[in-house]
Amino acid sequence: MTALVRTVAEIRTHTADWRAQSLKIGLVPTMGALHEGHLSLVRRAAAECDRVMVSIFVNPKQFAVGEDLDAYPRDEERDIAALAPYGVSLIYAPAPATIYSDSFATRVEVGGLTECMCGVARPHFFGGVATVVTKLLIQCFPDRAYFGEKDYQQLLVIRRLAHDLDIPSEIVGCPIIRETDGLALSSRNAYLSEEERRIAPALFETLRAAARRAGTGEDCRMVEAWARDELTAEGFRSVDYIDIRDAVTLDSISNATDANEGARLFAAATLGTTRLIDNLAIESGS
Ligand code: AMP
Repeated sequence: MTALVRTVAEIRTHTADWRAQSLKIGLVPTMGALHEGHLSLVRRAAAECDRVMVSIFVNPKQFAVGEDLDAYPRDEERDIAALAPYGVSLIYAPAPATIYSDSFATRVEVGGLTECMCGVARPHFFGGVATVVTKLLIQCFPDRAYFGEKDYQQLLVIRRLAHDLDIPSEIVGCPIIRETDGLALSSRNAYLSEEERRIAPALFETLRAAARRAGTGEDCRMVEAWARDELTAEGFRSVDYIDIRDAVTLDSISNATDANEGARLFAAATLGTTRLIDNLAIESGS
């Protein structure tokens, strides 16, 4: 039986009860419009935890003025139905005023990891994400919280903040779920026109080809420039970034085969008016 709750008090009642029984609690934070990517996190949480909570909250603080906050797809009934097969104990769907009171004045900012890629392209973004995720972790105090590698930079930022703020939840990263043609699932894929949807898999195809080249030791800047040209030729309107970076520190690297902790290729590019992001591990020698 899944409980639908909207307040912190209700969450605390449920989690206190579970904790008294020494049950392991998993949290999957989402902005709704659930797809197989989200559901893969829910399945992983259900396999590893005794009780699973899914939060659904379109966080206004991570959208800048002029971004798609109002247009962002919302369908609570459909989301509840999508979660039904997975034995979720609690769906937390707070109103914006529950998360941010009128007098709310705190912002969580993570340094370092946020100073590249999406942190540069969307300067408001990680502060908004870090603030809401910190609140969700403190409200729910899960043993484990599940995040997708689809938003890899975000995953690292959340790991950092949990560590720095002594939040004792384990932050679990989960692999990217893709369509059969390689396009990473995203709630924003719904914005793509038929023609754009046809072009969109070129993002993953280009990343895959670029990762292969970087894996053989080719100069990273050359590979990035090649991938940028490829995406433009395929019909992407703009490329925010194509970056090869250390998979743990996000430091820029010049040769992927030298990265101690592994290298990763990251991209953000706009098709029509839709900004798509994706990333891929670089296997040395591939
Ligand atoms: P969102 O609703 O877009 O904020 O995403 C909620 C969580 O689902 C985040 O941790 C995302 O990284 C994760 N997620 C979104 N799309 C995918 C995907 N295609 N594969 C795996 N995880 C995903």
